Amino acid sequence: MNYAEVAVNSPGSRSTFCYAIPPGLNISAGQAVWVPFGSRVIQGIVFRLSSEPSVEETKEIAGIVSDFPLFSPIQIQLAQWISEHYFAPPFDALALMLPPGFERRAITCFQLTDSQVDLPLTPEHRQILHIMRGKKKISLPELEEAIGKRKARQITDQLLDRQLITKTLELEKAKIKPKTLSYIKIIADREEIEVAKARLDKSRAYKQAELLEFLTGQTQPISISELRKRLNCSPATIKALESRHLVSVERLRVRRDPLSHLSFTTSPPPVLTSSQQAAWELIQDVIVGEAKQSSSPPVFLLFGVTGSGKTEIYLQALAQVIAAGKRGICLIPEIALTQQTVERFANRFPGRVAVLHSGLSLGEQFDEWQWIMEGNCDVVIGPRSALFAPLSSLGLIIIDEEHEWTYKQEDKSPRYHARDVAIRLAQLSDAVVILGSATPDIGSFHKAQQGEYYLVELKERITPRGYSPLPEVSIVDLREELKAGNTSLFSRSLLAAMKETLAQGEQIVLFLNRRGTATFVRCRSCGFVFRCPRCSIALTYHSVEKRLICHRCRYSIPVFQSCPRCSRRNLRLLGIGTQRVEEEIRHFFPEARLLRWDRDVITRKYAHEELLKNFRDHKADVLIGTQMIAKGLDLPQVTLAGIISADTGLNFPDFRSSERTFQLLCQVAGRAGRGVKAGKVIIQTYSPDNYAIEAAARHDYLGFYYKEIDYRRRYNYPPFSQLVRLVYSHTNEELCRREAERVYRLILDGRAREGMVDFNIIGPVPTFAFRARGRYRWQLFLRGPGSTRMLSQFTLPWGWTIDVDPVGIV
Ligand code: ADP
Ligand code: ZN
Repeated sequence: MNYAEVAVNSPGSRSTFCYAIPPGLNISAGQAVWVPFGSRVIQGIVFRLSSEPSVEETKEIAGIVSDFPLFSPIQIQLAQWISEHYFAPPFDALALMLPPGFERRAITCFQLTDSQVDLPLTPEHRQILHIMRGKKKISLPELEEAIGKRKARQITDQLLDRQLITKTLELEKAKIKPKTLSYIKIIADREEIEVAKARLDKSRAYKQAELLEFLTGQTQPISISELRKRLNCSPATIKALESRHLVSVERLRVRRDPLSHLSFTTSPPPVLTSSQQAAWELIQDVIVGEAKQSSSPPVFLLFGVTGSGKTEIYLQALAQVIAAGKRGICLIPEIALTQQTVERFANRFPGRVAVLHSGLSLGEQFDEWQWIMEGNCDVVIGPRSALFAPLSSLGLIIIDEEHEWTYKQEDKSPRYHARDVAIRLAQLSDAVVILGSATPDIGSFHKAQQGEYYLVELKERITPRGYSPLPEVSIVDLREELKAGNTSLFSRSLLAAMKETLAQGEQIVLFLNRRGTATFVRCRSCGFVFRCPRCSIALTYHSVEKRLICHRCRYSIPVFQSCPRCSRRNLRLLGIGTQRVEEEIRHFFPEARLLRWDRDVITRKYAHEELLKNFRDHKADVLIGTQMIAKGLDLPQVTLAGIISADTGLNFPDFRSSERTFQLLCQVAGRAGRGVKAGKVIIQTYSPDNYAIEAAARHDYLGFYYKEIDYRRRYNYPPFSQLVRLVYSHTNEELCRREAERVYRLILDGRAREGMVDFNIIGPVPTFAFRARGRYRWQLFLRGPGSTRMLSQFTLPWGWTIDVDPVGIV
């Protein structure tokens, strides 16, 4: 093997590059190397080795970054799949699996050689040689500082040519290091200690004698900082004992444990309820291998209503996997939910749980990574990125709340979906996957219906009262409220329910959908919403043009003064924030204690945990929140859940808006009545007849699923077709639009030329957040089985992003 395909760390490199392996260099797949790239030397990862070069001319690998492979063969295969499936640069795919803080820059260093000067030197040459004399080496940045950037590069090049200096690459200093502490322990034997003590007493070195006495009582080395707390002793005292060779002080590595601020109470597994038992038996047969099927990994869709005890099934499955000598990963949709999940897992498997997420300090992440790699834990818990933990012998991947959109990485490459990557990883590792949800993703449920996944159901909710019905839900028609002259955010029935709940000393959650606020126009008299006559999705208000625009077909109309249906001048731009909800509650219930939970409030580390703890400890009566409170929180004292406006998400110009709304409403409703007392849910809406809202009010997932899947089939949306989203952004609006149209025509031409009929192109249209961070954004969609084949033949121009299987299309 004389050649290596290397994934280079250069933005946007969509393929690997072939490099020759210089003689004498021993290289294996998964190793990090330095490679020449353009005029620079950059880091790359060896993707695979080959005996033949894939291109005519190859450059040589410049050096080695890591002496051993950073990735397991499974990880490399997984990265290959991610890179191919999502059209992502191979380095980006591998970077998902790099240890925290890995990326470090290369620094060029120079050393003097022993060569003699043969040609005359310029004063500048002499200057540099002078600077270098007496030094082992000097870095390029240091030289640049001394004599200027251009000159430094120029002169060093000339000196290199004449072999007066040589060049090496070195890594810049690591930003994170293992944490170490000084520990002290006795090294002399007992006899020596006794002799020493007597001598110290005699010479009145009482402090030293006291320290020696203390240390003889310790069975383990003790850290100096702890010693200082326990015993008033000075560094000089320690030094004195050290110099007498009675004790030694050494630095030992310690783990920065992200769970050290929590305490756990071990609890034995409960007796499973009969439905849990039935569900568990189905899964168990497959895990122990009795019912194992063909090549694809077993995937279970655990469809259980909110509070039906899904977590208990996860814990059982994990115990089984651990008993077989394997390990597990449990994904959660939000960092904010880590603590709740970690507690339940750690109580069952104390000391064997690792967490990984970006809310930890880099040092903690680094230590957790190391701890996992050394095989110290049985389960890793975290958001989607926890999939890439360096865990060997993987036996189980759990994805809790599998319908959540946070499992898709949308904001940067690779734009992967954790569910699909998990299934691929399970296949490579011979593991099983459990997807859990009360409101499964339409695509997942479809697969279960098709027999691709095992469907496992939990139909009853478990509470301290035993099996309990789901909370009663009532729908309030906000149009009626307006007719009755009520213009507040709260309907009369929600106000009455809040009053009663507060009087009973119970808790309330109020949910506000923030996505897509202030973007569409509705008549407050009759509830009319402007829709596209061609696509029937809500038109979006664009303040720049002052027009209402369809985000699918670009149909647009000017903004009206009065409603086309009832002719009243009561049109409103929609938009309510959590702050306004807070103000209104203060107005109606000045004595109620409020907590507001949204991303603006939560900024500090552990702020989520604190807020949740305060609410659980009943230090507040009302919790106002956005999406965050719809994600599987267990809040036993909540008896009322109010949804301020169910419509906001519904009018989002996205084919998934009904699914999204249904899921949110069911999940929010699921927060009420999980404790000793039954719960109640109130949904406020302008469209009480909408099927997503009606089905949510009846807790009727199946009813919703059948309607929704028909709609998807009729309009050929996923899961019946594959969708790819192409986005271009630019600071200039006109250039942005023109580029989108240009590429649209390019793809159209390509399709005609190749005679491809198995995909169509939608767009170009501006994205929903048309202007984000000062950049305009336009998009195109490819739909159909041929979309990805098209993309593999056609290289998109620079600046475009590809999102395969996007979760949001606005
Ligand atoms: P889900 O994850 O489906 O929303 P949970 O796992 O949170 O449901 O379970 C809901 C409640 O029921 C929790 O308080 C849990 O402790 C309790 N529970 C689950 N299984 C059992 C069981 N077999 N016996 C007693 N209580 C249980
Ligand atoms: Zn339209």
